[in-house]
Amino acid sequence: MAVPWAPFVLTISSKLDPAMNSLRDRLSRGPVIGDGGYLIELERRGYVDSGSGRERVGTGRGSGQFTPEVAIENPDALRQLHREFLRAGSQVLQALTFFGTREKLGRAGYGAQVEEINAAAVRLAKEVAGEQALVAGSVSRTQLVEREGTEALGKARDHLAEQIRLLKDAGVDFLLLETFFHLAEMKVALEAAAESGLPVVATMSFRPVISQCSDGHSPAECARVMADMGASAVGANCEQDPPRMLPLLREMRDAVSVPIAAQPAAFRTTDQCHSFTRLPEFPDSLEAIQIPRQAFADFGRIARQEAFGYVGGCCGCNAAYIRVLADAVHSHDG
Ligand SMILES: [Zn+2]
Repeated sequence: MAVPWAPFVLTISSKLDPAMNSLRDRLSRGPVIGDGGYLIELERRGYVDSGSGRERVGTGRGSGQFTPEVAIENPDALRQLHREFLRAGSQVLQALTFFGTREKLGRAGYGAQVEEINAAAVRLAKEVAGEQALVAGSVSRTQLVEREGTEALGKARDHLAEQIRLLKDAGVDFLLLETFFHLAEMKVALEAAAESGLPVVATMSFRPVISQCSDGHSPAECARVMADMGASAVGANCEQDPPRMLPLLREMRDAVSVPIAAQPAAFRTTDQCHSFTRLPEFPDSLEAIQIPRQAFADFGRIARQEAFGYVGGCCGCNAAYIRVLADAVHSHDG
């Protein structure tokens, strides 16, 4: 019998639980514990450029903000953060390849290092993960659609496909398509991912409110499209803290049969604006809206009770948050 997810079966029997013979199987018995946000944490430690001061960060119009050249410029800093997440309980380490397309890196002045940055990021994550964790290749939006509109989708597809080829060549276990604002761009990323044959976890980001993505689709519609296009788990990441994100995750869960993936931010949003990158605290005053780690402990309990497939964190979520999240997921008395 042909099953739609057959190309996504992944042999990882040597890693983690020996009974775990596919990502899809592991997700269905989740929650798998992800990791947290790398770029904000490494910006705080002085290894990533926020672009603040040169441009209005978050508009997608600038060049250099939050790109992952730390993988080649300060690899020890990235290696250390991977170690912290692994020690905290992460079962997946994301290679820091977020904003690693030639489009974004080129605008930041790293166009000649695209191959080197992507390969180094995967190599570092695999080195730290060893046999203890899976390594996901992070693929995010290009920002072309934000700047040029949907006419740029063809170009975006070429850039995303190129990065996915680099990540596959570098040996990632699966792809994490994340922080897409437009479902249209997520769809071209999913097409490119399907061509790679790698398993996919796909998460959209919703701003300025959780009721629809930037091209007007509800969380339920996004979830259905991502699942229909072959994602092994679907959900949301970034922009909202866990309690703010929960209603949209439940809407997605009710719309699909694949597991739900969630990597919320650790920043408080408001009833009027559900996205921290649209608040004036981003990117230089984020400490003022940092939420306590307890919110991630509560989220871990809910994720276990509601059988989410994959839970981690995004911006603002460091190892302290992942540690309490993992404890809550593994706890049997909550
Ligand atoms: Zn984030």
